Amino acid sequence: MQAQKKKLFIRTFGCQMNVADSEGMAQVLSDQYLLTDRPEEADIYLINTCAIRRKSEEKVRSLLGSLKALKKRRPQLILGVGGCVAQQEGDRLLGAAPHLDLVFGAHGIYRLPQLVARAAAGERPVDVELNRRFPDLPPRSWESYPAQTFVTIMQGCDNFCSFCVVPYVRGREYSREADDIIREIRGFLAAGGLEVTLLGQNVNSYGRGLREPVAFPELLRRVASLRGLQRLRFATSHPRDLSDELIVAFGELSALCEHLHLPVQSGSNPILKAMNRGYTREEYLDKVIRLRQSCPGLALSTDLIVGFPGETAADFEQTLDLMRQARFDQAFSFKYSSRPQTRAAAFPGQAPEDVKAERLARLQSLQDELTLAAHRRLVGQIREVLVESTSKRSSRELCGRLRTNQVVNFHGPQDLMGRLIQVEITEAHPHSLKGRRVETPPPA
Ligand code: SF4
Repeated sequence: MQAQKKKLFIRTFGCQMNVADSEGMAQVLSDQYLLTDRPEEADIYLINTCAIRRKSEEKVRSLLGSLKALKKRRPQLILGVGGCVAQQEGDRLLGAAPHLDLVFGAHGIYRLPQLVARAAAGERPVDVELNRRFPDLPPRSWESYPAQTFVTIMQGCDNFCSFCVVPYVRGREYSREADDIIREIRGFLAAGGLEVTLLGQNVNSYGRGLREPVAFPELLRRVASLRGLQRLRFATSHPRDLSDELIVAFGELSALCEHLHLPVQSGSNPILKAMNRGYTREEYLDKVIRLRQSCPGLALSTDLIVGFPGETAADFEQTLDLMRQARFDQAFSFKYSSRPQTRAAAFPGQAPEDVKAERLARLQSLQDELTLAAHRRLVGQIREVLVESTSKRSSRELCGRLRTNQVVNFHGPQDLMGRLIQVEITEAHPHSLKGRRVETPPPA
């Protein structure tokens, strides 16, 4: 008789990379542990952390403090902190939280089985070693990913933007062999998968140091040609490394979704320079124009930082102006927060909190207008939707995503989950759309 597996709970903070890393944690521990969504029944409780902003780091510390009570009730529970905060803090975390059993950095994920065994034996291991090559992973089980998955294609970043902690906590760039990526995606498609998102900190520079050099557009073409793949996405792109070939690919590859996340961060040239982003606003906007020429229905999302050190009112106006010109469909915007080790932490002209808050509110209000205008243009259209979940607002509604990445809610039976269907867009809201399922595909 097979031994019953123990239970693993993972709390994930941060970006899609972290979501993929949490899947990696479950994967490497899957021989002995089964994922649960109930922390109170877990034998291992892992927190996968994000250090990109001070606020996300504070949330992790507060959660860790609140878990003291659980650990007291269940002393056999193994409590671990992984990811970027763990990489940054190392054994300082053990000192700050005596109820913590295990600390593992961005790449310690792959050594989790050994680390967990050491923690179970009473050690308090800390593993913040950074890899230089992509580790061999056990094959993934696709049972819980019927329609969509993330596939990590590279790790780390060599760009050293002056505000960003990633190169310090995730290490230097390295890519995964193309054949391994293709093999993993083939397995997913054979299990009925439909949508793949290729992930990396800067996917556009994929390919460095591989046995067989493959540039990112070539990898995209190989993946897009796989039988059964309906939707292909990728994140994140650095605007400087967005090549002409990649721009052309948006007009040519039918599986490649008409959506691109292209973080601009600021619309002011002096601020972009201080951020060490490696492009100007003019170069960014030129790429946007060429992308829309190559793929006319392309939706564009971005990341923006307000209140970077030295940002003047005029710099901020330049950002608003760039947003209007680029007509972003969506933007993830944040107040600048200084991060340890980064160059910008020591820059003069750190902006006061109230200035940052006021700028963020103005920027978000402009983005709400732009998003709503983009949503209104969709009303009356029939679009393909991949059904992802039940809606947050009502259990009787389903929720899915257009190829252009907008979220749409509509009534329908649960058995549509994980399927591609046609939906007529009936209402535009600032953060989502409402629709009605239609049975027939739209005319060609
Ligand atoms: S490109 Fe810049 S912002 Fe993005 S991960 Fe690298 S250093 Fe950070």
